[in-house]
Amino acid sequence: MSETQDQEQALREAICAVMRAMEQRGLNRGTSGNVSARWGDGLLVTPSGVPAQDLTPQSIVRLDAAGAAPEGALRPSSEWRMHAGLYARRSDVNAVVHCHSRYATILACAGRPIPPAHYMISVSGKATVPVAPYQPFGTAALADTAAIALEGGYACLLANHGLVAVSKTLGRALAIAEEVEEQAAVYHGALAIGGPNLLSEAQMADIFQRFKDYGQG
Ligand SMILES: [Zn+2]
Repeated sequence: MSETQDQEQALREAICAVMRAMEQRGLNRGTSGNVSARWGDGLLVTPSGVPAQDLTPQSIVRLDAAGAAPEGALRPSSEWRMHAGLYARRSDVNAVVHCHSRYATILACAGRPIPPAHYMISVSGKATVPVAPYQPFGTAALADTAAIALEGGYACLLANHGLVAVSKTLGRALAIAEEVEEQAAVYHGALAIGGPNLLSEAQMADIFQRFKDYGQG
């Protein structure tokens, strides 16, 4: 295999590993989540309707810049337009993780952004994880609203739908999705016992500075 083929194969394997990790960590059930990585001027994305345990590197679908797949490829995730739209709008993003994890989805259905109740909300890149306005799944409009909500950060909720996390690498996007789900659970729990004491803008600015000094950016 050429170096490029090796790299593509490694990325296909990494996408399968992220899907399995999401299933194991309870972020996903059945066939609801999808994962992609930027590849050339297109992307590699999970196929539609294949459970994580049945995914193989070869089942991952390569799409070109126009969204076309090679002959014989499986059908791509119904959310491929959102993935493609995010790569088109965010040159800093090479990986997109989308899931319907329980607490993030509860808040998304309630139309509630996740405020800074806990300092680790900062992994999302912003003090609050916003909610992108509702758009039907599979539409290019969903990419537009998600991109706007993601501006300046790495995660957002999709109203009445779920969660999306983006980053430079698949591992980092998975870690952000996992932490945002945890933050959603903490906020949900705090609301149930009278509501959280939110961190102030100054306290969150201090946290971002500390992470910067710590070398986490
Ligand atoms: Zn979805």
